Parts: sequence; structure tokens; C-alpha cells
Amino acid sequence: MANDSQDGAWRPRTRMVHGGTVRSQFGETSEALFLTSGYVYDAPEEAEARFKGEAPGFLYSRFGNPTVSMFEDRMAALDGAEAAWATATGMAAVNAALMCQLKSGDRVVAARALFGSCRYILDEILPRFGVEVVLVDGTDLDQWATALANGAACVLIETPSNPGLEILDMRAIAELAHAAEAQFIVDNVFATPVLQRPLEFGADIVVYSATKHIDGHGRVLGGAVLGTRAFCEGTLKPYLRNTGPSLSPFNAWVLLKGIETLDLRVRAQSAAAATLADFLADLPGIARVLYPGRADHPQFDLAAAQMEASGSLISFDVAGGKDSAFRALKRLRLIAISNNLGDAKSLITHPATTTHQRLGQLERAHLGIGDGMVRLSVGLEDPEDLREDLAQAFA
Ligand SMILES: *Cc1c(COP(=O)(O)O)cnc(C)c1O
Repeated sequence: MANDSQDGAWRPRTRMVHGGTVRSQFGETSEALFLTSGYVYDAPEEAEARFKGEAPGFLYSRFGNPTVSMFEDRMAALDGAEAAWATATGMAAVNAALMCQLKSGDRVVAARALFGSCRYILDEILPRFGVEVVLVDGTDLDQWATALANGAACVLIETPSNPGLEILDMRAIAELAHAAEAQFIVDNVFATPVLQRPLEFGADIVVYSATKHIDGHGRVLGGAVLGTRAFCEGTLKPYLRNTGPSLSPFNAWVLLKGIETLDLRVRAQSAAAATLADFLADLPGIARVLYPGRADHPQFDLAAAQMEASGSLISFDVAGGKDSAFRALKRLRLIAISNNLGDAKSLITHPATTTHQRLGQLERAHLGIGDGMVRLSVGLEDPEDLREDLAQAFA
């Protein structure tokens, strides 16, 4: 196998096309798809050496496969991380990033505004194992300072958050987390490594749902955890190797193809979202638009400092609440109702009754997720067609 990657030297767009590529003896241009569970050894001595870690080579696809390994190396290259491990889904990545290092008696401090299933891990699972979880308003640095004054093992945030598109100050939170000797974990799904690289702002670990923009075509589930080589090899790998939330080689192969166009797609979707956000803000039936690229966004300056562009997601409040929002969603002809995001197809969802239903009315109110809020994931269609569809549905 020949490795043609010079990841360090290439610019980001080149890394997205070539990063991590390893060719077999056939010299294929595309990444080869190794659909195999196991590997054969020339002799038992070879197997012994590989199991002892004294010889290179794959052992078993639960914890190592050439196609998955290309995906891991490409993901690490995009964010400038030393190493990455792939997982079956984004939730497996978030779960592994926490569980691989936490033990009973530890504390986790997290922003309250998180993806629904991340909240489930914090609210329901970790406390069962004696891990104390403290939730703070992520935009309030005083709350972070108070919560971290007693130390913590991990800090978890999402920026921009789902669905409120809150922008959190990664540099300031990293400083407080490190003073508390906590590992700072950033879920970078909404921004993608094209628009934001959390390691440059002090994050220790970055987690992805590759299901979203990285696949970008709504085909497969996947995830990744990125960090230092010491963390990935020493702490994360033993957990993943022995618990088995492995990414399938087929999904890794689909995701490798997705990454080749990630930069083009995310920039185009983000540019379309920026124009559509302004268009929506002028519609009379819409009470409020949340988009990090608009001057009326509460963290507009911070978004500009941390992100290269403002992303492909827009959240907005429909005047008249749930009934009006549902009526408008039913009138849409092009934009589909779906809770997925980051797809080439534009998708819209009503968070209060779907992704954030479990939290209950009170907690949703706390997060600013009203009954009239909808979240739009802008795809790759002609923005004029999207504008016309939104106009006829929401006007
Ligand atoms: C979708 C998502 C996840 C979970 O990813 P899956 O691939 O669906 O398991 C985690 N965090 C954020 C911010 C997400 O949008």
C-alpha cells in the first residue's frame, strides 16, 4: 500500500480531496472499499507481533480497517488534529468522547443548549454512573466560571447550537476549562471544519456527526472523535475497541466521497442561507430570524471572529405559534419536512415537537425554543426556487 498524502503541506481544499488516501497495489484513483471483517497473517508469529503492537497491520475491523482508516486520517487533516477515530454515528462519537474518560465521582459542565440526544446522555445516563452534571447558559461566562470553580473532568459545548444557533466563546471557555483541568470537547457539527476549527480556539477534543454535512447527501450515518494522539491512542481507542460502535467500511467510503466536495457545498449552502435569512426576516408572518450572519444576532461579532461564514442553518419564529408553523410547513412544495440536516436537499423541522420534544415546555422556554420556531437546513437547490417556496408558504 502506498500513501500519497503529505497532509501537513497541503492547503485545506487539497486535503479534502487527497488527505489520508492510501492506494493498494492496483493503483486505483478512488479510495478502495475494503469490505472485510478480518485479516490473514503469514504466520502465527506475525499475528502475535501485531497483537503486541510490535508490527504494523490490521487485526479486526471492529477497531481498524483500511477504508475507515483513510476516513479517520482525512478527518484529522481537516481540523489539524493529531489523530481521529471513526464511529458508527455522531451520538456514538459524543458518547465515546465522554465515557472513555469519565468515572464515578467526576463532574461534567456543559452548555444547556445541546442536541437532544446529547442532553439525554447528560441528563439521564451519566448521573446513573455517579457523574455529576452541571448545565450552564453557555453565553454567560460568569456561569462557566462559577460552575468550573470546583474543577471538572470534561466540558461539553456545541457552537452554533441546535436549534437556537447560539454562538459560544470557545477561547474564553477553553481558558476556564483548562484552569479547572477539564478536557474541553466541542461538537462542531453545525459549522463543519470548513467554517470553524475548534482546536485553534483551545478545544482539546472535537466531535462530529458525519451524517450531516460530511456525508452531505443524506445517505449514511457516521461520526468521528478528534484529538491528540495520546488521547486517541491511550484513552479513546481502548474504549471503542472493546465496546464496538464501529463505522462500517462502506459508510467510510461514502463519507470519503462526501468530504471531496465538503468545502464547495458548505460555502454554497452558507451563502444561500445568508440571503434566505435576510429574505425571511422581511416576511410579515415571521416574528424573528436567528442567523449568526445577521447583525441582529446576539453574538454576531463573536460568530464573525470564530467562523469563516455563518453556516447553512437558519432558525425562525413563525408568528401565531405551532398552528401557523404547521400550516406553513404543509404548504411547502420543495423544502421537505425532516429532522436531518446538512443534506444537499433543503429540510425543515419543528424542534418543539421533534428533536427537542423530550425536554418539556419549561426547559424549551429556557432555551428560547418556542412553539412557533422552525429550523431550516439550506441545501444546494437554486436559492431562487427556495425563496419562492418559502414565500408562498410563509407569506
Ligand atoms: C445530528 C447531531 C448529532 C448526532 O449525530 P448522529 O449521526 O445523528 O448520531 C450530534 N450533535 C449534533 C449537533 C447533531 O446535529
